[in-house]
Amino acid sequence: MPAPSFPSRAPGTWDVIVVGAGPAGATAARVAAENGCEALLLERAAIPRYKTCGGGLIGASLAALPPGLPLNVLDTARLFTFTLNGRRKRTRTSSDPTCALVFRSELDAALTEAAAAAGATVRDTTALTTLCQEGDTVTLRTNRGDTLRTRVLIGADGSASRVARYVGVRCAQVDLALEVEAPVDARTADRWRGRVLLEWGPLPGSFGWVFPKGDICTAGVVAARGNPTALRAYKDDFLKRHGLHTSPPLHDTGHLTRCRRPDSPLARGRVLVAGDAAALVDHWSREGISYALRSGALAGRAAARIVAASGEEAARAATGHYEQRISDVLGPEMRASATLMSVFARNPALVHAALTRLPTAWHRLDAYIAGRSSVAEIMTTPLARTAAALGTRLPARPA
Ligand SMILES: Cc1cc2nc3c(=O)[nH]c(=O)nc-3n(C[C@H](O)[C@H](O)[C@H](O)COP(=O)(O)OP(=O)(O)OC[C@H]3O[C@@H](n4cnc5c(N)ncnc54)[C@H](O)[C@@H]3O)c2cc1C
Repeated sequence: MPAPSFPSRAPGTWDVIVVGAGPAGATAARVAAENGCEALLLERAAIPRYKTCGGGLIGASLAALPPGLPLNVLDTARLFTFTLNGRRKRTRTSSDPTCALVFRSELDAALTEAAAAAGATVRDTTALTTLCQEGDTVTLRTNRGDTLRTRVLIGADGSASRVARYVGVRCAQVDLALEVEAPVDARTADRWRGRVLLEWGPLPGSFGWVFPKGDICTAGVVAARGNPTALRAYKDDFLKRHGLHTSPPLHDTGHLTRCRRPDSPLARGRVLVAGDAAALVDHWSREGISYALRSGALAGRAAARIVAASGEEAARAATGHYEQRISDVLGPEMRASATLMSVFARNPALVHAALTRLPTAWHRLDAYIAGRSSVAEIMTTPLARTAAALGTRLPARPA
């Protein structure tokens, strides 16, 4: 590929500033730097920073990591135990154990180091506070009182994104997740080793999970935002039932997850959004790391195109290309997961029965977890189409 040629920029103006050093932002900064841009990555927290997350890396996430990234995998899920609100427990074995369980602080720090190694400048403990655009320049202010200028800004600042508010991102689904990092004794650690638990919960569209990580289990629950008291009660009950309430948790936090409306914008002028900021999260599983890595890479490439564009029309075309790529690559996944979620929220027992009774349904989910299939592929199978038709017609029945 010929080396990109960039029009000259005003002194003191970055090519690309990326806000947020999670998987989306660290990837966007790395890819922009690899494509010849002078990239600055801003992170509000001190790196490494804690992030409320299961830290489950499915095959699509692992495939989207930069080659050779040092990854501290604490466990790999081999057994998947499903329950319907604690009943009808059934365990399935993965044919190709792939789902890696990691601490997000370590993953995100490694991704940020990869961005720095590619040439991006990293500034942590620096938060974007305001932004505005004029002509081909985006100006932003930080909590440190700096004024920074850039040709392109990528907002990868998570689910409470300031940049998303500026762009006008609209959501179809907003959920609240409550999670703990529970220290466990040697016997309990042994019981959970290699085993992930997924429990379909009592609130519409809710579920609970336990992800083992050696002497710590990450456990939590998620449901539609709006009933935090019921969700807290579910979390307490869930932790008690699984024996994860005995020691004080290392972290006990809550975080929103948001899924975009299909027509929601992904850019405004020279400001793009990626990852959770763009509300790119699976409606059903709330898996978001693979979306963050993939949209971050697309945003980094798009930023390099915008910087290299000769004139505003070419810059607009490059932005349009980013929106199109997200729609082509991630749109089908989002749509399929929304369909699955609408069936699951009305009738979790149907989804539970399919996964635990029908070998084909489990094999398809297993293939998705391993990265050999996608939610879009699963939802176009005759079995899934029938379940979707049935699930939306049957009367709603909580778990
Ligand atoms: C409880 C829970 C469990 C989950 N479990 C999983 C899982 O097991 N697997 C999975 O794939 N997904 C999971 N997800 C989803 C996943 O955590 C997110 O989709 C993923 O973190 C999105 O990455 P991101 O880079 O877009 O945003 P984030 O990881 O949220 O990173 C955003 C970064 O921006 C920084 N920031 C915010 N505001 C500013 C600012 N103004 N200036 C500078 N920096 C700023 C933040 O400090 C943060 O570091 C889970 C989510 C929750 C809530």
